[in-house]
This record gives sequence, structure tokens and C-alpha cells, in this order.
Amino acid sequence: MSVLQTLQERSNNTCELCTSTEELKQYTIPPSLNENVDNDVLVCKTCLGQINGDQDMDPNHWRCLNDSMWNEHVAVQIMAWRMLQRLRNEGWPKDLLDMMYLDDEALALARATGEDKDESEKIIHRDINGVILENGDSVVLVKDLKVKGSSMVAKQGTAVRNIRLDHENDKYIEGKVSAQQIVIITEYVKKI
Ligand SMILES: [Zn+2]
Repeated sequence: MSVLQTLQERSNNTCELCTSTEELKQYTIPPSLNENVDNDVLVCKTCLGQINGDQDMDPNHWRCLNDSMWNEHVAVQIMAWRMLQRLRNEGWPKDLLDMMYLDDEALALARATGEDKDESEKIIHRDINGVILENGDSVVLVKDLKVKGSSMVAKQGTAVRNIRLDHENDKYIEGKVSAQQIVIITEYVKKI
């Protein structure tokens, strides 16, 4: 059974965050690169648009987290935690966060994208031109890049899609080149 099928089955074909049944998509929670039932959630178009920042956050939509934060699957709990963190200035999300329990491992993963940090302490990744990079962006290499631990050279001009930011170091991102996941220095890339 594919990851998507497993997600559809466990969620009964509903958005795992808001229970909508419209336009459900599989979402791999950053910084994970590989789809896996433990790293993935099934979400609707409305949730996904706000998670990705393509749509403005609508705090009322996220009242659904009141229920989904208790979901038995850790990936869903982590996404609920992250969205509550983004909304914490609304007040009520903070009360829900206080009630929530994530074990150490889940909490570390939940924190990996910095939702709980204030803007000033957030690690910002920028490309060679100073343009801000986000998880999921595509970049092109502006220099040849030797890949550590292999004889491979990633050539200048290579496009790297769906990058992941290193949440501890603003100089590093990760992405796949020739099906291999590599670490790339932000000074070597340009956002496309
Ligand atoms: Zn939803």
C-alpha cells in the first residue's frame, strides 16, 4: 500500500487537520525529505495553502486544531503544534498548546522549522543575491559543487527542487541532485 493510500485509510479520506474532504493532498512535514507514513499527513487545499503561506492565515479556520491536536498520529500532532505556534498571538492557541503533550523526539521535530521562535531569533536563509529561501523552494547552483563523501560534482546550472533548510545553520540547505540528497551552501545557489 502506498503512503498516500495508508494516509487515506487512516484518515477515512478526510483532512487530518480540519476533516474537510475537498482536494486532499499528501504533505510531507519539513524538514523530512522522504515520504513515509510517520512524516506525512493528509491535508485539504485550505489547510495546505495556509501551511505553505500561499494563502493568508485565517485563525478561525484553525479552530479545528482543538480536535486534531489529539489525533493519535504524531505527524498530525506535530502539524497541529506548528500551526498553533504560528497563531499563538491570538491567545486561544496558547491555551491549547499548554494542554498538548509531545514526547521529546516529537517536540524536537516539531520545533525544526522554528514556528515557536519570534521573528528576531529565526534563522533566515538567503541565496547569493540575498533573497530569502523557504522550505520547498527551487534553486539553481551558481558554482560547481563537490559532493562530500563521493566523487560526484554537482554542476553549475543544476536545478535543485524542493529544498529543505537546515534549521540550525543559515548557511546550509539540503536538496536532491541526481537522486542523492546533499548539503548545499546557500552562497552557491540562486532561487528560481
Ligand atoms: Zn484541512
